[in-house]
Amino acid sequence: MQVRRNPTREVRIGSVNIGIGHRIAVQSMTATHTQDVPATVDLVNDLDQAGADVVRIAVDNSKDAAALGAIRDQTSANLSVDLQENYRLAEQVAAHVDKIRYNPGHLYHHERNKPWQEKVRYLADVAATHDCAMRVGVNCGSVDPTKLERYAADDSVGPMLESAWEHCDLLDSLGFVRYCVSLKDSNPAKVINANRRFAEKRPDVPLHLGVTEAGLPPDGVIKTRMAFEQLISQGIGDTIRVSLTVPNARKPEEILAGRQILSDIAEGRVRTVVDYGSDTLNIISCPSCSRVENEAFIELAEQVKQVTAYAQQHAITIAVMGCRVNGPGETDDADLGLWCGPNYVNLKRGSESLGAYPYNEILPRLKQELDNLLAE
Ligand code: SF4
Repeated sequence: MQVRRNPTREVRIGSVNIGIGHRIAVQSMTATHTQDVPATVDLVNDLDQAGADVVRIAVDNSKDAAALGAIRDQTSANLSVDLQENYRLAEQVAAHVDKIRYNPGHLYHHERNKPWQEKVRYLADVAATHDCAMRVGVNCGSVDPTKLERYAADDSVGPMLESAWEHCDLLDSLGFVRYCVSLKDSNPAKVINANRRFAEKRPDVPLHLGVTEAGLPPDGVIKTRMAFEQLISQGIGDTIRVSLTVPNARKPEEILAGRQILSDIAEGRVRTVVDYGSDTLNIISCPSCSRVENEAFIELAEQVKQVTAYAQQHAITIAVMGCRVNGPGETDDADLGLWCGPNYVNLKRGSESLGAYPYNEILPRLKQELDNLLAE
C-alpha cells in the first residue's frame, strides 16, 4: 500500500534525516540515571542495535549534563537530549548531542521575567552553533500556563496547538527551521486530534508522534497503535516513539513495536478502520494477537483480498478483524466488515449486522454484498 506523506521539511538529526522522502524514524529513550554512565551507555547501545534511529536522554541538572560527554565518547548512536526546566543546560550538552528537545511549557520556570522569545532565541543559537536539530515538545500535562487561561477547562488541545504554532512562527522568523514538533497526550484520541489540526495548518513541519504514559505492553502498544494508524495513514508523522513501561533490559521492545506498527500500517494490517485517503479498494485486516479464536482468520484475510480484487477501482473499505472482543466495534466504520468468532464469521455492512456464516460460506456471501454495494 502506498501511504501518502505530508510534504514536510527535511530535518537532519546526526546521521538520520526525517521529513518527506525519508522513512519514518523510530526513537526511544533511556530510563537509566543519566549520571550512571556505564548503564546509560549500555542502554543507548542496546537501543541502537535494536535499530533506534535516535536515542533520547533526559538531563535534569549539571551533573547529568556533565555525564553526556562520556556517554557520547562511547556510542555512535544519534543522541537527543530532553531539557527539562533548566533550559540553560543546553549550552553544556549541545556539543555532545544531535538534537535538543525543549518543552514550551517548561520555559517559564527559570528567569521568570525574561520573555520566552528570548529563551527560544538562545536555544536556537546554541543548536545552530553545535549543529543540532531541535524538537518543540508540547505535552498536554505541562502546557504554557498563559495559553491555558484562554481556553475552556475541557479544551486541552487548543492551548497545546496555540503554543506549538507560536513557537514554530518564532523559530521560522529567527531563520532556524531545523526542527520538528510533538503534541503528546496519554489519550490516543487527543493525540490524533492535536496532530491532525497541527498538520492542517503546518503541513511543512515534521511531526514526532507519541502517546505518553501508554503503559505496559501489550496495552501500551495497542493504545499507541490506534493513534499512529489514524495519523500515519493520512500522511502525518515523520518520526515516532512507542513509550512502554518496561524494565531497561526490555526497552528495545519500544523500537521493535514501533517498526512493527509502521510495517503493519504499510501493509494494511490495522486494528482501527483506517482511511488511507485513496479512491480505490481499501482492505484492512487486524495484525492478529492472542485473542484470535480461530486460526482460519489469517487465511481468510488473505482470501478476502483475492476474492474482492475485481472491485479494486472502487473507494470501498473492507475490514477483517480477528476476534469478538474488538471486531464488532472496530468494523462499524468500514463499508463491509467481517469479524471472526470460533466457528462463525460475522458479516456487517457499516454498523448493521448481516448475520453469521461458517468459514467456508462467508466468501460468496461477502462477494454478494460487495456486488450489491457496487450496483448502488
Ligand atoms: S481485532 Fe482482536 S484479534 Fe485482531 S488484533 Fe484486535 S484484539 Fe487482536
